[in-house]
Amino acid sequence: MKLMIASGFDAAYKSFPLAFAVTKDVSIDSWRWFLTRIREKVTQRKGLCLITRHHPDILAVVNEPGSQWKEPWAYQRFCLTHLCSQFSRLFPDHHHHTEYLVMQAGSSTQKAEFDSYMKDIKEKSPEGWKWLDRIPPHQWALAHDSGLRYGVMMIDRKALFAVCRSFQKVAMTGGVMLLFSEMKDAFDVSFSCSRGSLHRGDVYTENVMRKFQESLIGSGAYVVTPLESDAFQLMEKYKEYKECIVELNDSTCTCGKFQRKRFPCLHALAVFQKMKINPLPYVDDCYSVESYYKTYEATFSPVPEMSAWPEASGVPTLFPHVILKKEKGKEKAKAKARSLLVMKS
Ligand SMILES: [Zn+2]
Repeated sequence: MKLMIASGFDAAYKSFPLAFAVTKDVSIDSWRWFLTRIREKVTQRKGLCLITRHHPDILAVVNEPGSQWKEPWAYQRFCLTHLCSQFSRLFPDHHHHTEYLVMQAGSSTQKAEFDSYMKDIKEKSPEGWKWLDRIPPHQWALAHDSGLRYGVMMIDRKALFAVCRSFQKVAMTGGVMLLFSEMKDAFDVSFSCSRGSLHRGDVYTENVMRKFQESLIGSGAYVVTPLESDAFQLMEKYKEYKECIVELNDSTCTCGKFQRKRFPCLHALAVFQKMKINPLPYVDDCYSVESYYKTYEATFSPVPEMSAWPEASGVPTLFPHVILKKEKGKEKAKAKARSLLVMKS
């Protein structure tokens, strides 16, 4: 059995589980079923950023006629870690130099840097470069993303599956009930956390504030020169050849991080510090404590008794193994364990 998970991020940059599905195989049909159900049951919001593996089945489903996972309903982006593994499987290189270059190209925030890595990839692996060049860069490279992915480049599978550790131990019905109770506990913890922050009068989450503090230490390494109309030039104190331009009017920096992560980069923070400007209005609302609180505000309705569950049609019912009276010791224990594999259909 496989467990499929769809997840988002909350304001504290923590994984926010949206939907789960148990399936025998992961195929084009299960992807279609899962993605369609998310649109029916979880969210009908337009303009979502969908980060997936670069897999032909997912691509086919997303681009099917009538799909609500293509533009303008959603913008598909690819997980960079998966893309790199796929690249190294298709174009093996024992020293992993080219895989490293693909990772660097995808993570760069500046287009010039991206172009330079692509040039290196072309020299080292012309076939690999051809394959990569066929994938639209805005779907896998941060430098070509317009801020839709908020700087999120990877699907963190560990974090996603951490919420359902007990799932593998008890199959089907039991697993689903356990998962539900774990979700409820996790939501309760995040809810009281967000309520605490709101009562303290915090505007942004602790993670955001910590990031600010850490970044402020590094921001002292720049010489800030005001230019015209809210633009500033920054030079590193000891490396004068490195220059960045921050434009506060449209919250951008030539380093690319400010607009792509929707969070002030080191250069913008240096400007705020020098000009005594409050940096908080330049942080996207999605990181605010208010958003954080709203995310976990809803209550969980209890799961009704199994007898009240609606019957599904066209799905086989699996009955538990019959436990024979004669079975003793280990055999009896094994049989009991098997009897837990009941599927409500
Ligand atoms: Zn910058």
